[in-house]
Amino acid sequence: MSRHNEMSFRESTGIMFNRAVKLMDLPPGVVEKIRVCNATYTVRFGVRLRGDIHTFTGYRSVHSEHMEPVKGGIRYALSVNQDEVEALAALMTYKCALVDTPFGGSKGGLRIDPREWDEHEMEQITRRFTYELVKRDLIDPAQNVPAPDLGTGEREMAWISDQYARMNTTDINARACVTGKPINAGGIRGRVEATGRGVQYALREIFRHPEDIRAAGLDGTLDGKRVIVQGLGNVGYHAAKFLSEEDGCRIIGVLEYNGCIRNPDGINIEDLKQHLILHGSPEGFAGGTILPADAPLMEENCDILIPAALEGVINLENADRIAARMIVEAANGPVTSGADRILQKKGVVVIPDMYANAGGVTVSYFEWVKNLSHIRFGRLQRRQEEESHRILIEEMERMTGQAFDQDFKRRYIQGAGELELVRSGLDDTMRGAYQDMREVWHARDDVGDLRTAAYLVSIGKVAASYQAKGI
Ligand code: GLU
Repeated sequence: MSRHNEMSFRESTGIMFNRAVKLMDLPPGVVEKIRVCNATYTVRFGVRLRGDIHTFTGYRSVHSEHMEPVKGGIRYALSVNQDEVEALAALMTYKCALVDTPFGGSKGGLRIDPREWDEHEMEQITRRFTYELVKRDLIDPAQNVPAPDLGTGEREMAWISDQYARMNTTDINARACVTGKPINAGGIRGRVEATGRGVQYALREIFRHPEDIRAAGLDGTLDGKRVIVQGLGNVGYHAAKFLSEEDGCRIIGVLEYNGCIRNPDGINIEDLKQHLILHGSPEGFAGGTILPADAPLMEENCDILIPAALEGVINLENADRIAARMIVEAANGPVTSGADRILQKKGVVVIPDMYANAGGVTVSYFEWVKNLSHIRFGRLQRRQEEESHRILIEEMERMTGQAFDQDFKRRYIQGAGELELVRSGLDDTMRGAYQDMREVWHARDDVGDLRTAAYLVSIGKVAASYQAKGI
């Protein structure tokens, strides 16, 4: 326990799990089997860099193998520790079950500050870490498939994939050993934006249910809603960009680790991102007021707060002061179990992480299937689809003697390519999972929040899977 009697991340996840299973009628043995983390492998390896040997500590934790492969990202950060990877692996189990991706839950991490090392050094470190994990089948297309997380991205996934292929030269499915790869290394279109896109699709789905947003004291559409985003990394950036550019949300605040930006009229996210890429910090950005990194911007009045960086940022210390009506957990575990209770009492609606940020693993699933089928989605049917649309349009024009609007014609005829199919599959997944959660939320008097509902749905699926196959 830390300051303010806060639990550790793993304890906090465990408490939320306990709150949910109390409402379920499951044999205690099954509950215990689901709760525990199956295994955590810790590795310490040395890499010769800058004329000396540097020792790194890495983890790969497997929470549940009720379905294989197990899935979950690899995080590079100095804060990585066993408690954290185990909490994150458990969340992967529930997340995969909730959105019906056929995986168990896993997570990995390497204790490193990626900013300390140059690209070549990062490659050496990543390949060595990969070697250690592959040797123990902790990276394997059929058993354990990592993906990006904080501090990692396409670049690291390409190295991991290549390293696995070098160690398994006859494995025709080698590329399916990791997801989140660049397109030219077997990746899928739409994976980089996927988690942020999923946040957008989640909010769109919630706003299709007026009674649900009323529970948060909100009404209307997403258009004009005031949003604060904490963290403008891959997830926060894409979520903020899509919500502001496509749904009319006003991003009135952005918190970064080295400075905050406030603008009641709305921040131009693309401009801000370009500024951050160029200058490294918000300082000098003209599109808003710059505040220090520790400014309490998260506590400011807004409709929707999107924590999109680290765990535990909404905790016992600040939960009382949160003024947002709705919190969308784009990060994993941003609200601690203690804070969750406080927010619930305040009537704040929390869209739980295992749902809100499931877009990443959903599109990872599509990438894994693409790698196993060795063909890009849409490659066979796209032109055939276009042809049959064209025939229909031409025949209707001939019959009526009238021409369709050119823009309509172009949009209607166009067949779906990989990106369109990925977005369609993601949208369908986010809608379906929300409906499953809200059904439980509304149907049961003893379920007062969406997180408990999400746990009920996902634990139910994991339990059914264990019970069906026997443990
Ligand atoms: N790291 C991401 C997450 O926490 C993605 C996991 C994956 O794609 O396997 O969900």
